[in-house]
Amino acid sequence: MSKNILAILEQRDGKIKKSSFEVVSMAAKLANMFNIQAETVVIGDHIENLNDISIYGINKLTHFKHKAVSIYSTSAYAKIIKEYADKAEFQYILMSNTAMGKDLAPNIAVKLGAGIIPDITDITVSENELLVTRPVYAGKALQQLTFSSDIKVLTLRPNVFPLIKNESATKAEINVIEIESVDLTNRVVDFKKADGKIDVAEADIVVAGGRGLKEPENFKLIENLADILGAAVGASRAVVDAGWRSHNEQVGQTGKTVSPSLYIACGISGAIQHLAGMSSSKYIVAINKDKDAPIFGIADYGIAGDALEILPLLTDEIKKVKL
Ligand code: FAD
Repeated sequence: MSKNILAILEQRDGKIKKSSFEVVSMAAKLANMFNIQAETVVIGDHIENLNDISIYGINKLTHFKHKAVSIYSTSAYAKIIKEYADKAEFQYILMSNTAMGKDLAPNIAVKLGAGIIPDITDITVSENELLVTRPVYAGKALQQLTFSSDIKVLTLRPNVFPLIKNESATKAEINVIEIESVDLTNRVVDFKKADGKIDVAEADIVVAGGRGLKEPENFKLIENLADILGAAVGASRAVVDAGWRSHNEQVGQTGKTVSPSLYIACGISGAIQHLAGMSSSKYIVAINKDKDAPIFGIADYGIAGDALEILPLLTDEIKKVKL
């Protein structure tokens, strides 16, 4: 078996996602550490930013192309990757722990007889072995694991691993393979996307609101702050269950996992199920009327006060700095 690495990229609407470049950066770093080769594969129709992979240190990309796979299909994607991996016999297969990664990675692992460790937040190498860390028990504990399988499938939590650019890298060699037949036994038929808004799972800044905002109309305060920061709006389950906000904004155990650079939690108590989805954010700011609210336990900066008063003041002050 070759000891090489395969990074599987994800495209949406013909554009490779930022979280995939995080995977490419990590794959290039591991290839360097183990002194092995890394390459990438992407499935889709026309993809506009294929050349961007070179800058993250990998210069071989295979693009499997067909109109029918421009939208994700479990059966088609898993079959294509299984056949490709069988030929090249990769030892490490990496992808992002996005909705697609969560579905595709176990499928590929089963097809290849591989071990899988999902939702990884740290990777180190000890005695030439990978040692990976992932949060468990809704983020209450961190688990460290090694693989015992020959083939190792890893999914990396988005927004946790840095983008590592190599400006002097050579231009990528891109092989386009036109697929003849596509197995569409399982396929995505529809994406429910909030029009024009930033996806909370992809955003670098998230402003989130909870029941402390008192009524749905007050989310305008969250939206105003999010607008000037170029942030996505997030929500606790309490307000989603109450019908104030849509489920695609929910952060937490039964919502999305986010790891932005900045997470501003407003009127959110900090229940364990909410923390499960945002505790790996780089900086956490909490605004809560109750100074003993659990959210302050993980916040880097806290404001004990009324979010309905503080949010307009904060928005105005940030506006002044930004203009
Ligand atoms: P509350 O707990 O009611 O907290 C409101 C907070 O606002 C309080 O801390 C209060 O002090 C503060 N407040 C009140 N007025 C103001 C004001 N004017 N200004 C500032 N602060 C104010 N929750 C999630 O969020 N995401 C999940 O994915 C999720 N999954 C779950 C899965 C399971 C199986 C279960 C059992 C629960 C799950 N929950 C989830 C629910 C979770 O347990 C909490 O009930 C929920 O997070 C509470 O939301 P909240 O913080 O908005 O509301």
